[in-house]
Amino acid sequence: MPADPGKRIPRLMFPPGTHRDTLAVREGLPRTPWGENAEALFLTSSFVQPDAASAAARFGNEEEAFIYSRFSNPTVAMMERRLAALEGTEACIGTSSGMGAILLTALALLKSGDHVVCSQSVFGATITLLGRDLAKFGIETTFVPQTDLEAWRRAVRPGTRLLFAESPTNPLTEVCDIRALAAIAHDAGALLVVDNCFCSPALQRPVEFGADLVIHSGTKYLDGQGRVIAGAVCGPQALIDDRFVPMMRSGGLSLSPFNAWVVLKGMETLAIRMEAQSARALELARWLESHPGVACVHYPGLASHPQHALAMAQQGGQGGAVLSFQVRSRDASPEAQRDAAFHVIDSTRLCSITANLGDTKTTITQPASTSHGRLSEPQRQAAGITQGLVRVAVGLEHLDDLKADLARGLDTLPR
Ligand SMILES: *Cc1c(COP(=O)(O)O)cnc(C)c1O
Repeated sequence: MPADPGKRIPRLMFPPGTHRDTLAVREGLPRTPWGENAEALFLTSSFVQPDAASAAARFGNEEEAFIYSRFSNPTVAMMERRLAALEGTEACIGTSSGMGAILLTALALLKSGDHVVCSQSVFGATITLLGRDLAKFGIETTFVPQTDLEAWRRAVRPGTRLLFAESPTNPLTEVCDIRALAAIAHDAGALLVVDNCFCSPALQRPVEFGADLVIHSGTKYLDGQGRVIAGAVCGPQALIDDRFVPMMRSGGLSLSPFNAWVVLKGMETLAIRMEAQSARALELARWLESHPGVACVHYPGLASHPQHALAMAQQGGQGGAVLSFQVRSRDASPEAQRDAAFHVIDSTRLCSITANLGDTKTTITQPASTSHGRLSEPQRQAAGITQGLVRVAVGLEHLDDLKADLARGLDTLPR
């Protein structure tokens, strides 16, 4: 170990033009003198200071050093460095979860009286956090239709500090024009925050289209194997240092070093997993689209998707690994739709019935009763989350096995 590693781990020098695939396995790995080839896991709550004067200087921020793992830990710093390299941002701060990342962003950047404009199709807990929990503290949020740019423009007002979007959304895979939203935000003197869980930086890097901050749930594709809860915010160094790190120090939404290490190793295979899972999702979406038991399929990789061209431009030509489809039911009543969706889900033997996604194991769920179960029926209908909708987050199983698993229910739908 260098005599004093400093709070920030030493920056490794890669030649200009070094590819993302290389950075994904090499960035953020300062080795100790033991010469470990894999990244070290620093499970320690605190760090010993050489003497009282150094401790005073370090606690007072006059000298950089690791102090206490609530706000500084080498394994967490390695994960942050690697994720920042993949997202193309200057800095990153790890958080306890994806929701922790969104809460930290709000605590770091907003105060009572401030206003947020948010897509109405974002992750359910994000809607609850912004619309209910932060409203208690005088932060008001206006929710707008994801793809209606005019509605975003109209919602902006003098106190607007943040625009918040997610693309593609869960489960209808609506895509937003990140560049257009960034322009609206910047015209208003606000920042654009993009939740990039569904694409991950392997497919989409929102800052390339003008976003200011990128939110991650490390729980999803970054880990990639459904093991840990983790999150992160990526953005400009000055903003992270001046607003987010102090808030982390007092707020303690900290990422565990162990979880950081799992995510750090997960990122090494992110690009090849995303490519393989996206390819399977596209094939499965095409197959579902032609199946008589399916009324429609939502997947950005399909030419039938309303924002197919925009999605391909923003997502490196890939659709991602999440799709949803409307099962054909005996009639259009919510009861019949629910019976049909449950029949397909309950006929699977391979897919895991769980609302998680981003795993190598394919997951299947009915959004109306799980991720969107806390919405009222009118809210759900406004959002297009029908009882007959089934979401699949495609993993790495063989495509033929996945098709057989879904065909079992789709071929025997109740009449
Ligand atoms: C899962 C998820 C979150 C929340 O992440 P956690 O790690 O579960 O807190 C936020 N946004 C999106 C899009 C997600 O899928």
